[in-house]
Amino acid sequence: MIIGSIVDGIVIDHIPAGRGMELYRDLRLDNLDCEIVLIKNAVSRKIEKKDVLKINEVIDLNYEVLGFIDPKITVNFIRGGALIQKVNPPLPELLTNIIYCKNPRCITSTEQELAHRFRLTDRESGVYRCLYCEVRAERR
Ligand SMILES: [Zn+2]
Repeated sequence: MIIGSIVDGIVIDHIPAGRGMELYRDLRLDNLDCEIVLIKNAVSRKIEKKDVLKINEVIDLNYEVLGFIDPKITVNFIRGGALIQKVNPPLPELLTNIIYCKNPRCITSTEQELAHRFRLTDRESGVYRCLYCEVRAERR
């Protein structure tokens, strides 16, 4: 694990290689003023290559987004230069406005203000279905 110069912050480790930028966008990290480092294709022993995001501030993270991208992602909380907590966000039961239903007959396509919600229907294979129309979500 790479902590680097972070004193108080978060290191998001074991992001599948090439998906760090997507996570950066989905976690809305572009709205932050603090220092953020994205390491792409870091060499790791656990998985061959990985992306790593280092955030030089302790912020609230959207665990739905993290777990949905990959439950192997590790979130390391650094305080005073030491690792104080490690979290593995699980595949979430419910996704709200993270993926969108593409069924043109779904109520979410006519009711614009309705949240797009998907429920995990098969944890083994990570299948999500729309809460309203049951259509299977396409994984990104
Ligand atoms: Zn739907």
